Amino acid sequence: MQIDRTLINASGLGATQDQELGFGNVFSDHMLVRDWAHGEWGRAAITPREPISVEPSALGIHYGQSVFEGLKAYRGSHDGVIRLFRPDRNAARLEASSERLCIPTLPAEEFIECIRQLVATDAAWVPKEREHALYVRPMVFASEGHLAVRPARSYKLVITTAPVAPYFSSRSRALRLKAESRFTRAASGGTGAAKTSGNYAPTLWPMASAAEEGFDQILWLDAQEHAFAEEAGQMNIFFRIGDEVVTPELSGTILPGVTRESALRLLEDWGIKATTRRVSMMELAKASEEGSLLEIFGAGTAAVIASVASISHLGKEISAAPAASGSLAERLREELLGIQYGERPDPHNWIQVVS
Ligand SMILES: *Cc1c(COP(=O)(O)O)cnc(C)c1O
Repeated sequence: MQIDRTLINASGLGATQDQELGFGNVFSDHMLVRDWAHGEWGRAAITPREPISVEPSALGIHYGQSVFEGLKAYRGSHDGVIRLFRPDRNAARLEASSERLCIPTLPAEEFIECIRQLVATDAAWVPKEREHALYVRPMVFASEGHLAVRPARSYKLVITTAPVAPYFSSRSRALRLKAESRFTRAASGGTGAAKTSGNYAPTLWPMASAAEEGFDQILWLDAQEHAFAEEAGQMNIFFRIGDEVVTPELSGTILPGVTRESALRLLEDWGIKATTRRVSMMELAKASEEGSLLEIFGAGTAAVIASVASISHLGKEISAAPAASGSLAERLREELLGIQYGERPDPHNWIQVVS
């Protein structure tokens, strides 16, 4: 695949070295853009990162016809090699999200090649510290200016990258979640399984009020009964109950996370019973009371695996009682990081080397 390249004159890397990376405070030198019009994708171009001009009536902005992805490029701690983790899964999910939103799809090989070349161009931006990474954010939005609620006739793919620090700064502290009993993230038949822009803005208000009450994140419940656990903010949620690990099944309201899928696979490799099914708040409260709720953790590219200490549900605390046998969250976290940073074997061929 031919990608045009215009390189920046002076890299911004030196100037940003002292800046707090955080998660999205700093962006790399280049971006990739590719337009879709007249029924096909045009040539992709890597250019210096700069503002893009947008048609004021762009359907993507007005009606939310846009989808995105999130993955990371990791620099090996011992060998300096830059690796991507399962970009084929992000390609497949982008395709599924696009189909749901009537957005033209991008062949998986082309999506991955765009990312490979962009990351290779900004290779110097992939941080050297372990647990730091170059976050890759592809997005596709409807660029045609129109007023009708209908699929647009033109689209823009934009891929930007950002060097990021670990998502949760205080790694040692487990999170406190608020089970949200009033607002919902996704309803049956809606777009919960798609990584589409419109799913996120409606979470801002509930998240702000949860933060005001002292919580780190929201545990979203099902829209119908507010009785079943669905997701923890932008992470999939796992519960270790007795000798079983449970995560909600992909019912259409849950984002099919690459980290979730990988964690399930690792648990299976280790001979640990991992089940995908509905998990009610009643079951969790009971398990917590009986002392069989051993662990709660979130899983996502940004945070990898994040331990959860407790969930507040209708004024009651549902807490995890740490198991004597050691933390599965920590074991999963170390295995995933080990594979991503090239320190551990990669038996499932999850890694694609960039350079
Ligand atoms: C992106 C995302 C996740 C995590 O998916 P990963 O592929 O593991 O990064 C989980 N939930 C929501 C709502 C998300 O947007």
